[in-house]
Amino acid sequence: MTDTSSQSVNAAVSPSPLAPDWLQLPSDLNALHEPLWAAGVARDDDGELTIDGVAVSELKRQYGTPLFVMSEMDFRSRARAFMDAFNEAFEDICGGVDVYYAGKSFLCTSVVRWVEEEGLRLDTASGGELAVAARAGIPGSEVALHGNNKSDGEIHRALDMELGRIVVDSMAELERVARIAAERGDTAKVMLRLTPGVHAHTHEFIATAHEDQKFGLSMAEDSTEQAGLSAAEEAVAAAAGYPSIELLGLHCHIGSQIFEPDGFALAAEKLLDFLAAMQAKYSIVLPELDLGGGYGIAYTPVDTPRPAAEIAQAMAAVVRSKCAELGISAPRISIEPGRAIVGSTTFTLYEVGTLKTVRVDAPGAGTPAGQGTTTATAGKNVTYPRRYVSVDGGMSDNPRPVLYDADYSAVLASRTSAAAPQLSRVVGKHCESGDIVVRDVYLPEDVAAGDLLAVPGTGAYCWALSSNYNYLARPGVVALRDGSARLIVRGETEEDLLNRDMGVSE
Ligand SMILES: *Cc1c(COP(=O)(O)O)cnc(C)c1O
Repeated sequence: MTDTSSQSVNAAVSPSPLAPDWLQLPSDLNALHEPLWAAGVARDDDGELTIDGVAVSELKRQYGTPLFVMSEMDFRSRARAFMDAFNEAFEDICGGVDVYYAGKSFLCTSVVRWVEEEGLRLDTASGGELAVAARAGIPGSEVALHGNNKSDGEIHRALDMELGRIVVDSMAELERVARIAAERGDTAKVMLRLTPGVHAHTHEFIATAHEDQKFGLSMAEDSTEQAGLSAAEEAVAAAAGYPSIELLGLHCHIGSQIFEPDGFALAAEKLLDFLAAMQAKYSIVLPELDLGGGYGIAYTPVDTPRPAAEIAQAMAAVVRSKCAELGISAPRISIEPGRAIVGSTTFTLYEVGTLKTVRVDAPGAGTPAGQGTTTATAGKNVTYPRRYVSVDGGMSDNPRPVLYDADYSAVLASRTSAAAPQLSRVVGKHCESGDIVVRDVYLPEDVAAGDLLAVPGTGAYCWALSSNYNYLARPGVVALRDGSARLIVRGETEEDLLNRDMGVSE
């Protein structure tokens, strides 16, 4: 015991050698790093985490854990802020922008309603997402449908709902949409998704001529059998010729969790070059250009995404100068943010269960290459503690750490603590050693079973990607507004888990 406490004193004054370089030892473990949290999240006088004045223990009592806890007001204000920033930047270029909320990041009927009320439109990527949109009652004219492999059923549904746009991903799909629309006596409003060869990463982007991905029509000039003809151009020419297709314009989406505007700006330039060339060559007008989503958010204190206004202005500057250079009037611009609207509106509330501390060699310790294992120092390696904090959910409610090596952070939510920081790994309860929720975070040393933890930034691609692995019931989503909580998606029950099981035959 004395040994453990002397180590904790050390831990309080110096970072753990096991921590990744980016992870800072926080000066105050109870502090809430503002960019990670929804507006309205705070600690009350007792130190408990609250949202809109409602304590997490109360949410736990009413709804159980794990639980997605979302601020409706924060969702609405982020949606509005995004729209205002882009509208202002593009006002004098094309009269503003259309903002399509990317529903795949998190979708339910309440969210569709908020999106519509705030003046945004809705992006969907499947018939199921269209079903949610229809149930919520949003007009089809404000809805877009994506997907690289839409079924005939999905295309029919899009036409039934009179969607504002179908984003067509390939030549084969263009032919299919044209045929189905013609058979129905409809006109399909179509955008063509192009791959401009710009791949944005969080801190850089790369540009390539050739695309090696499933999405979109290539802009490379050798991407068809015919010399000098790109797949993108072939589709534009075909689309312009189909009476059942109304070609609205061009679309691209260059990636996700992007912090810098450069990649968006380069993609915009490439698409405008192409748009101008197509308008001239085929004597058509392409009135719309969609620059996709992918705007990044903060998941840990080291993430510093640019404000929406800064990105909007950088993109607007490029669109303005490129259109002037090309001598064309600017198309109407649209964008498709998902994560940047919903990601930071939500935290996941978990209850702590089992804790264990392991001792680990410092990274890079161990036997130097070429030496045997029986050196004089063997067995005397200095080791450091890593504590595993198990919570009552895991990869089933947040698969992003497993899928993408995504980093998150966490705080002790049910109380504050004056205990020393201890390097911790928050893990789930699944039968999988990779089942990690937060790979590296400093938590107070006295975190114990029954405490509540909150993991911020889980609004996007967590509930949406959740699964029933190990027959865990998927958590519900509770939304806070004006100091009251409302369940917008209920958590699953054991009955739900067994619902589709057809039973044993007698
Ligand atoms: C996923 C996706 C988006 C949204 O991406 P975010 O990173 O959530 O902003 C937008 N458009 C398309 C086509 C997408 O596939």
